[in-house]
Amino acid sequence: MADTEKGEHMAGKNKSDAYLAKVAKADQILREAIEKFHPAITLASSFSLEDVVLMDMISKIRPDARVFAIDTGRLNEETYQCAELVRAVTGLKIEWFFPRFEDVQKLEQEKGLFSFRNSLDNRHECCNIRKVEPLLRALKGQKAWITGLRREQNVTREDLKYVEIDDAHRSITKINPLLEWDEKDLKRYVEENKLPYSSLYDKGYTSIGCAPCTRATEPGEHPRAGRWWWENAEQKECGLHVDYFKGNDASVKA
Ligand code: SF4
Repeated sequence: MADTEKGEHMAGKNKSDAYLAKVAKADQILREAIEKFHPAITLASSFSLEDVVLMDMISKIRPDARVFAIDTGRLNEETYQCAELVRAVTGLKIEWFFPRFEDVQKLEQEKGLFSFRNSLDNRHECCNIRKVEPLLRALKGQKAWITGLRREQNVTREDLKYVEIDDAHRSITKINPLLEWDEKDLKRYVEENKLPYSSLYDKGYTSIGCAPCTRATEPGEHPRAGRWWWENAEQKECGLHVDYFKGNDASVKA
């Protein structure tokens, strides 16, 4: 083998080794967390690539592991379709949580259906009603929650750790097994394990959220550029991961 070919071969092997190490690390973190906390541990799934990967891993560790999802009332049809496919493949039972109808009714009657576009406060109000309040109910009684957060996703997520205490949510333990994964790792895992995924990714989406607040991204754009694209990068959280709102008061956002 010529030196150049050998170099390329080694580079490819190192990348593959790095991927396998990330898979093993995520599996180990999940196993230890589930062994320690089950049944008081749950995965928050939005049916993103990250969550599909985690649901597959979790289902192989404990088929009765807890997974919840929040139906904000504004999800894409593709998200519901993906949820059903992943449910069928993994066999996991998905606990759905909904916003309190009286809060949604009041919001829509007083401010209309797109108030979140008018100001950051209005956007936080909608996220609080549709996401944060149901999340707090979903986490009630839980000692730990698993997330698909990754370090490369956002400027607000640079300080993430694999395991941390989530002070914003009653100090429960927060587990982030995919911390070091990149998009290629996610796609490779999904492909190798023949998992379903949201067809939104095939339409150019690089992040999954509510339909009116998420758009497809252009090549070269940051993966989360399609979330709340009318806001600054530092503001792009919904309150679910409020502790990364540097410098802000968690009680306001959550
Ligand atoms: S992402 Fe948009 S529609 Fe969904 S809860 Fe937040 S503001 Fe409301």
